[in-house]
Amino acid sequence: MGGELMVRYAVLGSGSSGNSYVFFDGTTSVLVDQGFSVVELQRRLASVGIDLCTVSGVCVTHLHPDHAKGVGVLARKLRIPVYLHTKMVEQESVVFEKLGIPQECIALVQPGVAFSVGPFTLACFETTHDSGGSVGWHITYDGTTLMVLTDTGSYTSEQLGLAKKSDILFLEANYDATMLRTGPYPLYLKNRISGLYGHLSNDQAMQFIQESEFCGEHVYFIHLSTTNNNPTLLSEVALSQVKIPFTVCEKGKCYGWDTENP
Ligand SMILES: [Zn+2]
Ligand SMILES: [Zn+2]
Repeated sequence: MGGELMVRYAVLGSGSSGNSYVFFDGTTSVLVDQGFSVVELQRRLASVGIDLCTVSGVCVTHLHPDHAKGVGVLARKLRIPVYLHTKMVEQESVVFEKLGIPQECIALVQPGVAFSVGPFTLACFETTHDSGGSVGWHITYDGTTLMVLTDTGSYTSEQLGLAKKSDILFLEANYDATMLRTGPYPLYLKNRISGLYGHLSNDQAMQFIQESEFCGEHVYFIHLSTTNNNPTLLSEVALSQVKIPFTVCEKGKCYGWDTENP
């Protein structure tokens, strides 16, 4: 670990079995997504040396269960704010209600409008996904900017601009185009995944890094499909195309600031 002021962070899990990212300054932590039970979240936080009671807010990318199913129970337990894009609540009202977030914990936010959780400054930006009001997040702490871009079928010039200014990038690489095309999924699902409101492919992720001119410290490839992607294949593609150190996050596993070289 570097200097004392350095932000600590971890991928607590990514992919269809549950997604969560944590950012920690030694006292306060903030989550992006919470797709686990509280017990499982606590276990995963502990594995990277973070206590559950430091969690002071949760930012949500979208309301698919693998990203949001644990948000309500966590908010009820810790009485912390849950930050949601207003459109998410309006367009996915049935799913939203089922989460059971206490009224006083609901914090509605707008893309591009920054707010603070402890020492962190956060803002969301819109993504294209088949869940209303979906967003990605960027997080700034003491001059370091981190960006989470997941569950989006395409990327925008706004996102490219944000990535260019980021130090750490968590970027979806959901599927290999050939594996998806030749794989076992039914056609409608293949079309959904590769469509504008689906997920980023390995090739799209590589293009994103190149087009954004990302020159930060590290890229974490996240939200890999077990059926339509292969971590070894993705590593080979990234090795040949990405000049920056990277980590391929296998589904379900934890990765963090001190687990880069396990
Ligand atoms: Zn999703
Ligand atoms: Zn997802």
